[in-house]
Amino acid sequence: MVKIGVLALQGAIREHIHSIEACEAKAITVKSVEDLALVEGLILPGGESTAMRKLIDRFEMLEPLRQFALDGKPMFGTCAGLILLAKELVGYDYSHVGKLDAIVERNSYGRQVDSFEIDLNIEGVATDFPAVFIRAPQIVSVEENVEILATHGDRIVMVKQGHLLGCSFHPELTDDHRIMTYFIEMVKESLANEVHVK
Ligand code: GLN
Repeated sequence: MVKIGVLALQGAIREHIHSIEACEAKAITVKSVEDLALVEGLILPGGESTAMRKLIDRFEMLEPLRQFALDGKPMFGTCAGLILLAKELVGYDYSHVGKLDAIVERNSYGRQVDSFEIDLNIEGVATDFPAVFIRAPQIVSVEENVEILATHGDRIVMVKQGHLLGCSFHPELTDDHRIMTYFIEMVKESLANEVHVK
C-alpha cells in the first residue's frame, strides 16, 4: 500500500484520511519532520493558511516540506494547502512552501459567495466532479510548465506541475474519491520512476 500523509497541524484533516483509506492506501497524519520521513506523498489540507504557517514554523517543518517537494515527492495542496504550495501570493511579499509556479490570490470570491458547490470538468479526472469552494483562493496565472486541469468561469481552479497538484476547492468534503485516486496514481508513478533510477 502506498503511504499518503496529511499535514495534520490545522484544517480538514480527518476528511482526507477517510478519502485516502477509501482508496485503499495507507493514511498517515504528519505532525513532525519524523512523520514526514514516513510518507511517499503528502496532502496539504484546507483550513487557514496563516494559522498553518505559524504551526509549520513552530514545528520547524518549512525547510523539510520544501525539501520534500525538491526531492520530487508528490504533494497535493487543497484550498489553504494550495496557498501553501504557491510560489507567489497576491498582496504578500513572501510565500510558504512556494514550489508551485503559480500566482495565487487568497479569498478571491469575496464575502457574498463565501461557499458554494458546482460540478467541474477536470482534465483526466472527471467531467462532473462535485467541487466545494469555501472562502476559496484562485490561481491568477501559471508558468508554462504548469498544466491547467480545471477552470471555473475565468478562474483557474486546479493545476498540475509534474509531481505537484493543487486545487482551490475541497475534494475531501464529498464521497467522490476520483481526485484522490488520481493523486495516488501520481504517487505510484513517482515510486516506479524512483526504482527505475536506482
Ligand atoms: N481562506 C483560507 C486561507 O486563506 C483558505 C480557505 C480554505 O482552505 N477553505 O487560508
